[in-house]
Amino acid sequence: MRGHNFSAGPGTLPTAVMEAVRDELLEYPNTGASIIEISHRSPQYTAVAASARALLRKLLGLGEEWHILFLQGGASTQFYQVAHNFLPSDGVATYVNTGNWSTKAIAEARRYGGVQVAASSEDAQFSYIPSEASWDVAEGSVYLHYTSNNTIFGTQYRSEPTVSMPLVCDASSDFLSRPLDLDRYGLIYAGAQKNIGPAGATVVLVRDDFLQTRRPDLPTMMDYGTHAAKLFNTPPVFAVYMVEKVLRWLDDLGGIPAIQAVNQQKADLLYGRIDRTDFYSSTARADSRSLMNVTFRLPSPELDAQFIAEAKANDLLNLKGYRTVGGIRASIYNACPLAAVEALVSFMDDFEAANG
Ligand code: PMP
Repeated sequence: MRGHNFSAGPGTLPTAVMEAVRDELLEYPNTGASIIEISHRSPQYTAVAASARALLRKLLGLGEEWHILFLQGGASTQFYQVAHNFLPSDGVATYVNTGNWSTKAIAEARRYGGVQVAASSEDAQFSYIPSEASWDVAEGSVYLHYTSNNTIFGTQYRSEPTVSMPLVCDASSDFLSRPLDLDRYGLIYAGAQKNIGPAGATVVLVRDDFLQTRRPDLPTMMDYGTHAAKLFNTPPVFAVYMVEKVLRWLDDLGGIPAIQAVNQQKADLLYGRIDRTDFYSSTARADSRSLMNVTFRLPSPELDAQFIAEAKANDLLNLKGYRTVGGIRASIYNACPLAAVEALVSFMDDFEAANG
């Protein structure tokens, strides 16, 4: 039986998508073989990838100036691929440090050129998003990099930065959970395994005018231009095939406005329960709380552990906080149904009644 899965990533996927994949795993329609056993240049896979791109264009409103790439190497590869393409050794890029993933992106960018950290919330265990008014942005930055949702600490930007240079965004853990103001961006990347599919594909959206600012002497596979121009090598076929199904599921649901409303409802329900008594305490500052990863603590680490164990016995799975942070983390990505959050809240009531 499938439990209520609150995993931070790879995360839960829509059951309907999993069933559809199961049903056609051995034989893709009219193919006599699985989609993962045939060429990435076959008409079947070509149609799948084209459909995934068309759905992304529709869901996000991406015009033809946007290239849609399905790359490998995870979001972690993007930490250096972005800088390798766009940060010259005599140039500067601005980064905002809101957690482990931003810290890693900054470390990789420093290998290539100048990095200015405009603001950091490390002083308070990354429990908040520094307000844009406090940022020290380097003039002449080739881009400003930010992490829209901080998976580990449960914080999320309320609004998109308004700086003059193109934004580069690590949207791994909130991609397609809310709309994007595309005109502000040069590049957006997201590992698929939280909101849009299984691990193995990284979605990269790059705007053509920004793409043209990349350095000329890039290794072929590292060059975004290679992948924007053609299908250069074997893409992560199975992952893209599943991403296409998740995108179709999202489109059928009513697209981003519809899922955004459900995401708000789920988060309101869970934060409302956390705030109702002092037994549970939210670890993210109220103005920075994530709608995707809800982090909280009980009165002691022992109670945290007991909560996680009893939750598991009640089919509420994968609620343990990040290994260096502790506490509880409930990841409630797009595919996590409202019923799962309702079950968690009901369990929280019972657990407090028994142990509070
Ligand atoms: N950025 C964010 C916001 C993440 O949550 C993660 C993974 N948890 C990463 C980057 C790293 O992604 P990957 O493991 O795909 O390299």
